[in-house]
Amino acid sequence: MAHINQNYLKLPGGYLFPEIGRRVRAYSAENPTKDLVRLGIGDVTQPLAPAVIEAMHKAVEEMGHKETFRGYCEETCCAYDFLRFAIRDSYKDVGVEVADDEIFVSDGAKTDCGSIGDIFELNNVVAVCDPVYPVYVDTNAMAGRAGDYDGEKWTDLIYLPCTAENGFFPVLPRGRVADLIYICSPNNPTGAAATREQLKQWVDYANAHDSVILYDSAYEAFITEPGPPHSIFEIEGAKTCAIEFRSFSKTAGFTGTRCAYTVIPKALVRDGSSLNALWNRRQGSKFNGVSYVIQRAAEATFSPEGKKQIKETIAFYLNNARIIKEGLSAAGLAVYGGVNAPYIWLKTPDGVGSWDFFDRLLRQANVVTTPGAGFGPSGEGYIRLTAFGNLEATQEAVRRIKSIL
Ligand SMILES: *Cc1c(COP(=O)(O)O)cnc(C)c1O
Repeated sequence: MAHINQNYLKLPGGYLFPEIGRRVRAYSAENPTKDLVRLGIGDVTQPLAPAVIEAMHKAVEEMGHKETFRGYCEETCCAYDFLRFAIRDSYKDVGVEVADDEIFVSDGAKTDCGSIGDIFELNNVVAVCDPVYPVYVDTNAMAGRAGDYDGEKWTDLIYLPCTAENGFFPVLPRGRVADLIYICSPNNPTGAAATREQLKQWVDYANAHDSVILYDSAYEAFITEPGPPHSIFEIEGAKTCAIEFRSFSKTAGFTGTRCAYTVIPKALVRDGSSLNALWNRRQGSKFNGVSYVIQRAAEATFSPEGKKQIKETIAFYLNNARIIKEGLSAAGLAVYGGVNAPYIWLKTPDGVGSWDFFDRLLRQANVVTTPGAGFGPSGEGYIRLTAFGNLEATQEAVRRIKSIL
């Protein structure tokens, strides 16, 4: 008899987005004439850059000819040199030296953040920020590393509250040592970007305790201020304690195209083993790479035209973020994020609960948002707005929200 992984039965079951969908559908069914503005989605809306499309067309054409057809990629860990070298060179822009065989190309940062646990023993203590991108929590729960869900939290995880009081960056834990530490900066959902000093504390902690930081910098391209590092490897000591996840999804609109990469320094060793070598072994057995066409598309984001075009799109989203942030602050609301990230983290007025304020915005303003409580207990009392909409919808949402305050 086959037995299932019982850990799956402990999962509370994709509560947040299905529940939002249910409430939105119910409202629309009762009010079919109301048009809703959706600032809840975490997906991009602008098309791929022309330079990317051009590279894809060219690569598709190559696949149609015997001389230029590609099958399995034989190069290092199923990634073509042209892409790994372009990624390596892009790190030089922020003063970071990364070797090309420290770069692993994949189909998504979600895939990699969710699979990295394979190379770590089950009894590592996992720390997550609260609020948090649910992938880190759910994948550790599936592996059996999170304990049981008590209706609010997982019993074996260390939750690191990120609140207005600590500038939405976690303070070092006291008591149990965190072995695996997930940090996402710029942050989804709070929009906060960690400073050099903040990250340095965690790098020092991780090196002192032989912990590993799993650093998700999917939104690094949205950093506009000079302070926050784009890579954890800008911090001294990070190469002996950190793994970095990056993605073309938000940087270049690849959410439907699929390409990302993970950097594991060769200097990162635990129990006498290189984590780079372990991940290489894992990928070699479970992964056959990203398609040639998509790797060419990703490469094009590093060309001079590609860079310029994706920068323009990011500037477009960040302008939306500015409109939301300035509009709602002017209306007297406490608004965070939105400067180095496409997310605005809004404190609900008068201590109203996340879901109550979500309902009010849906029913009175016809604006769809995301309740902060869905990202963890410390998200209660906040809602998340995204800057990924179009300009008119964003302006309209701000007008409508102001009108109901
Ligand atoms: C969108 C997002 C990613 C990107 O995931 P992909 O699988 O590369 O599309 C990674 N981390 C966070 C926190 C995100 O919000």
